[in-house]
Amino acid sequence: MELKELILKHALINAFLYQGKTKEDIVIKKVLAEKPELKEEIKKVVEIVKEVVKEVNSLSLEEQKKLMEKKGIKIELNEKKEELPELPKAEKGKVITAFPPEPSKYPHLGHAKAAFLNFIYAKKYQGKFILRFEDNNPKKVEKVYYKEFIKGLRWLGIRWDKIDYVSDFIPKFYEAVETLIKKNLAYVCLCKQKRIKKLRWEQKECEHRNFSVQENLDLWEKMLKEFKEGEANLRLKGDMQSENATLRDPVLMRVIDHKHPRKNYRVWPTYDFATSLMDVWERVTHRFRSKEFEIRKELQDYLRSLFGWKTLTFEFGRLNIKGALTSGRKIRELMKKKELRGWDDPRLVTLAALKRRGFVPEAIKDFILKTGISKADAEIEFETLESINRQHIDKIANRYFAIFQPKIIKIVNPPNFTKIKLKVHPEKKRYKELSIDWNEILIEKEDFEIFKNREVGLIGLGKVILKEESEFLSTKVEKSLQKIHWLCKPYLKAKIVLPDAKEIEVLIEKNLRNEKEGKLVQLVRKGFCKIDKMGKEIILYFSHK
Ligand SMILES: [Zn+2]
Repeated sequence: MELKELILKHALINAFLYQGKTKEDIVIKKVLAEKPELKEEIKKVVEIVKEVVKEVNSLSLEEQKKLMEKKGIKIELNEKKEELPELPKAEKGKVITAFPPEPSKYPHLGHAKAAFLNFIYAKKYQGKFILRFEDNNPKKVEKVYYKEFIKGLRWLGIRWDKIDYVSDFIPKFYEAVETLIKKNLAYVCLCKQKRIKKLRWEQKECEHRNFSVQENLDLWEKMLKEFKEGEANLRLKGDMQSENATLRDPVLMRVIDHKHPRKNYRVWPTYDFATSLMDVWERVTHRFRSKEFEIRKELQDYLRSLFGWKTLTFEFGRLNIKGALTSGRKIRELMKKKELRGWDDPRLVTLAALKRRGFVPEAIKDFILKTGISKADAEIEFETLESINRQHIDKIANRYFAIFQPKIIKIVNPPNFTKIKLKVHPEKKRYKELSIDWNEILIEKEDFEIFKNREVGLIGLGKVILKEESEFLSTKVEKSLQKIHWLCKPYLKAKIVLPDAKEIEVLIEKNLRNEKEGKLVQLVRKGFCKIDKMGKEIILYFSHK
């Protein structure tokens, strides 16, 4: 591809993603990313980029789209919305899937992926989708997280046919244990945690493995009533010689002396036992989960088989989001130091944070499906989610003028009108009114510095030569001319919480008052925001450009 064509391609794609405007630096980056060898001709690249960007920006969105079609340029985002593949052994009406979160943290994008895949597949086969709270560790479970999951999943548009709590099934687990003991498939081990770990590592059995069925039944009774935490564990008679360490007589039930938010029991199933038996009891046929569980698949398949059931599990790659704060350890650290605004801090990718920042559920769904179900870890830029979200909210967000760093200019020979009407959104028929004080027009300081002494269009007003005392040239503005936004009194003061959680004070046109809390708006030439608070104080959360 000729250099200019390559540059044109990236300029058009970028313009398409950003409401018809592209920037030189972004195009240069994209071009070099595709052809790093061009770094050696950087001067030439920069020159052509300048030219092409100017050309592309002078076109209307329609013209850009036409040019893209003509050049055969397709946007990858739309192309990649692939259908999910068919499931093996899936019969219409008989598929049952489950999403089993542990209510021990705030739901985030990773949870959303597992939830969506299980939900979508259940729908695809007109089957059932179960939300299952794996709340079998009283030390980790907290009441608030049940609610957060329900809230987060509902927000995403996920609906379940049934909601289960492992903590409601504890008596059934006790029965299952008796069955296993009677079949000589499990035993009560009186080793301390440390010894269990050591022997498993050394692939050695302990003496407790040889207890008789009756001895085990008696010890199990004692476990339920007397043994204290750490004194006894119920273990599976697995395979101490297995290469897969999870099969080396794993603990199935243990004593946990800790208050549970829902139920009062002392003996609780471990994760593997809980998740496998719940699959059996709920008759789960297929289940999607992230790859970190793959190592446990063999053990869980075995546990289910002991109770005569098979669930097909599919492990997908981890979702690594570049440019987002996702490390649990780091988040807890910041939380401890009180450096986060909460679990909906804009730096996080919890569902609560994304929602507050102005991401819409449809965008999150598209984003997740785009990452697919392959086993390869998906390295995804946070920007990708932003651009998908932009496509969704651009259609709905009303436009407003806001000035972040004001510079006052005056028009020396103004026309004779002092009010104008502008559309609230290019595709809506609603209008808003703006008053003009030609002696005091606020523009962005940055615009003043860049376009000083040049012709610019003040959006909706006309063409001026930009100076502290500007000359008004015409109410007609050529399409190719740079247009800038402006503001006159009366305006509102608002606080914007930026994606890095910093706060800034800005000035916004008074028409913003017509918007309600929770609405998405676009600050012209600045970016999208969600109205967080609309009262005496106005707070916006900055979504993205
Ligand atoms: Zn033992």
